Amino acid sequence: MTQAAEQQSVFAGVSAAARAFVEREHGHYIGGEWVGASGGERLPVHDPATGTVMTRVAGGQGADVDRAVSAARHAFEDAEWSRMRPVDRERLLFRLADAIEAHADELAEIESLDQGKAVGMARNLDLTMAVDFVRYMAGWATKIDGRSVQPSVPYLPDQQFTGWTRKEPVGVVGAIVPWNFPVLMAVWKLAPALATGCTAVLKPAEETPLSALRLAELAESVGTPAGVINVVTGEGHTAGAALSGHPGIDKVAFTGSTEVGKLIGKAAMDNMTRVSLELGGKSPVVVLDDMDPAAAAQGAAQAIFLNHGQVCTAGSRLYVHSRQYGAVVDGLAGIAGGMRLGSGRDPQAQMGPLVSREQQQRVAGYIDSGREQGARVAAGGHTREGGYFVEPTILADTNHDMRVVREEIFGPVLTVMPYDDLDEVARLANDTPYGLGASIWSNDLSRVHRLIPKIRAGTVWVNCHNVLDPALPLGGFKQSGIGRELGREVVDLYTETKTVMMSI
Ligand code: NAP
Ligand code: MG
Repeated sequence: MTQAAEQQSVFAGVSAAARAFVEREHGHYIGGEWVGASGGERLPVHDPATGTVMTRVAGGQGADVDRAVSAARHAFEDAEWSRMRPVDRERLLFRLADAIEAHADELAEIESLDQGKAVGMARNLDLTMAVDFVRYMAGWATKIDGRSVQPSVPYLPDQQFTGWTRKEPVGVVGAIVPWNFPVLMAVWKLAPALATGCTAVLKPAEETPLSALRLAELAESVGTPAGVINVVTGEGHTAGAALSGHPGIDKVAFTGSTEVGKLIGKAAMDNMTRVSLELGGKSPVVVLDDMDPAAAAQGAAQAIFLNHGQVCTAGSRLYVHSRQYGAVVDGLAGIAGGMRLGSGRDPQAQMGPLVSREQQQRVAGYIDSGREQGARVAAGGHTREGGYFVEPTILADTNHDMRVVREEIFGPVLTVMPYDDLDEVARLANDTPYGLGASIWSNDLSRVHRLIPKIRAGTVWVNCHNVLDPALPLGGFKQSGIGRELGREVVDLYTETKTVMMSI
């Protein structure tokens, strides 16, 4: 295909607005201005369904990060933002939510082109959740308060004091996000930062920088003061590392792999920068023996195949009672084998490509290792040509010595194994360094209640999986992270508590 024909096929059916935005050359957004990379570097952005280069973005380096951190610091300490009242921040966030909602179709197309997911899913899930979460955080802006205390200082019995606490914004936030839900992950960091009065420097994933840049334009259009939101595009080992280790930031909010999360945590600790880390997972799906096998297979398929398995909480380890094991594996093989792969712009497709060639090869490597270690491929197991496709794959008869059971694959690959009793399945569910999510499938309430406290995970779903709400916290036990996103818990992670003691 010629280059023009390639571009034509990438953008077939895409709105003029989304295409025009994607094809533009993009700089960083710093201090309210669009600027080129200090080193002049530009990074290609690919369409995962075809591998075509759609556009280029600035490749950020330390100097770009320095500039963005200075802009964010100035906005935080000296400019209009530092004097804005909570109600003004609330109104700004409501306007931002309205703007995202008004441009949700366009943002969904940008996300699909950049990330590979279906436009419909991006629109119905990523964008609706982003809008609702910005509105949820808008409400918090006016509800952040401290406590007042009457002290009885034991060594000064004759003096009177009054004391209280203030919740103050933590300061400049460095936000580093992954490529699986680009705009949503950006909003999960920016909305709490703005609600609490912080400012932010956002580094989107190198694979998916576009929706964050469009978000910055929308934030500017609704009156976000310069320097409050800054976006530096670039690679993790350059721009990301410069940001997480920057002495000028007060907090790092990171979502990504546990491996990188550890690097970030160590870099942050040198400056005692606050950290919240939302990391990887290997979430178990536990089916109890009262479940109908066909319903269990449906539920398990949804738990793993959402977003092509590229979900931190993906239900990637399935445990089925040995009496129903065969029927559930057969059901899953039927579902996975019947799924149609295609571009995110193909409404008939049930699963899109993975985000990059690198991820495609990584996932294929895991499938091979499963085969070598004795797993049975009950469905899928191959890559497909064209874009970065991997077939939905069911690996049956797995065990806990296999890499496919122990490590996060982050693709459409489900491992399945049988169990015989409740204590055994609780032990298997917890036999992992991760602790992000888990689901239990049963209508036997007493066994469900016995299992919930045994499972070491930040979220336990019952008869559903991957269902999130702005008001309920999300985060990891064990190596799945530190801190929480969503819910009122997030407010504490973007604020410092200041104690005031006054002699009266
Ligand atoms: P990743 O490789 O850890 O990257 C995440 C972000 O960190 C990207 O922006 C990346 O930049 C950047 N980065 C890489 N190396 C860095 C370094 N040395 N210093 C600073 N930043 C660095 O993760 P991913 O592959 O993009 O995303 C998948 C992972 O995210 C999975 O493990 C998944 O479970 C996890 N995740 C967790 C949650 C949660 O809420 N717990 C949600 C979604 C995803 P570049 O990519 O540009 O190099
Ligand atoms: Mg990456």
